[in-house]
Amino acid sequence: RAKQMGRGTEYIYEQSLQHEITEKARFEVLLRRALEDDLILVYYQPIIDLKTQSIVGAEALVRIKDPDTGSVVFPDSFISIAEDTGLITQLGEKVLQTAVLDIQKLRNKFNQDFYISVNFSNRQFQQEGLLDLVKDILELSGLPPSSLLVELTESLLIQNNSQSRHVLTSLHDLGCKLAIDDFGTGYSALSYLNQFPIDILKIDRSFIEKCESNLTDQSLVVAILNMSQGLGMKVVAEGIENEFQKAFLLSKGCNLGQGYLYSRPIPFDDFSTYLEQY
Ligand code: C2E
Ligand code: MG
Ligand code: MG
Ligand code: MG
Repeated sequence: RAKQMGRGTEYIYEQSLQHEITEKARFEVLLRRALEDDLILVYYQPIIDLKTQSIVGAEALVRIKDPDTGSVVFPDSFISIAEDTGLITQLGEKVLQTAVLDIQKLRNKFNQDFYISVNFSNRQFQQEGLLDLVKDILELSGLPPSSLLVELTESLLIQNNSQSRHVLTSLHDLGCKLAIDDFGTGYSALSYLNQFPIDILKIDRSFIEKCESNLTDQSLVVAILNMSQGLGMKVVAEGIENEFQKAFLLSKGCNLGQGYLYSRPIPFDDFSTYLEQY
């Protein structure tokens, strides 16, 4: 019986591995098709000044419209595949261009100084011509470089690769803002913060989520806020879902945030309507 169970487990393992491989292949096909057939969607989540409740910008978040089912596929299913296959270059370009043009439309429509925050994968910083691409897109759209916020992860800074260092410095010199996404989840060494021109820390959602019940997480949030002040960086809280979290953040001096309390990521037209009604 035990032997049988052992074999059974192995069988199930093989099956789930097989399933994973099939799923990956399926998403790769979907991604390639989406890039060809213009099925890449960019959703927007407003970033709020918690004190005044005004909208200061938005984060661009990619989705794919599955042409077979009509459903929307979320990035967790395909970003790592895009990175592994190198398709992230093309995908990143598409998202950046769409997001910059969209936000510039809204800036003109509402005569407001919104900024756009765009996620970049590590691999994109190795992309030849990335700087020229960013410059071209900014010029074409008319968006001031200071209204483009580049979101990167701690792992990029830890790699400390000379090419990405050059790109980051150049983007910063151009006037773009640099933000560390999911801050606090990556690494314990903080020395890299002084070695790159970082403007913004985005506190990972996990800290915000737990700060309600967990004093340790509260003190971590406070520590990040204190540190950012010393370093001259701004802080954006991710994943604010309720009034308690918002009040806590405000009481500790965190003035910027995004989360379901305000809005989920929404398509461009809905975002435009949201701005109109807000
Ligand atoms: P992220 O950059 O940390 O984006 C925030 C994620 O948290 C988004 O998930 C957003 O929908 C979700 N979120 C925001 N507020 C709340 C909240 O109050 N509660 C909860 N439960 N979730 C909230 P999403 O859109 O599924 O994106 C997941 C990740 O995929 C992103 O995490 C980012 O790392 C990556 N990603 C998204 N778009 C792009 C892109 O264009 N390029 C690259 N390289 N990565 C992207
Ligand atoms: Mg992000
Ligand atoms: Mg992220
Ligand atoms: Mg994040």
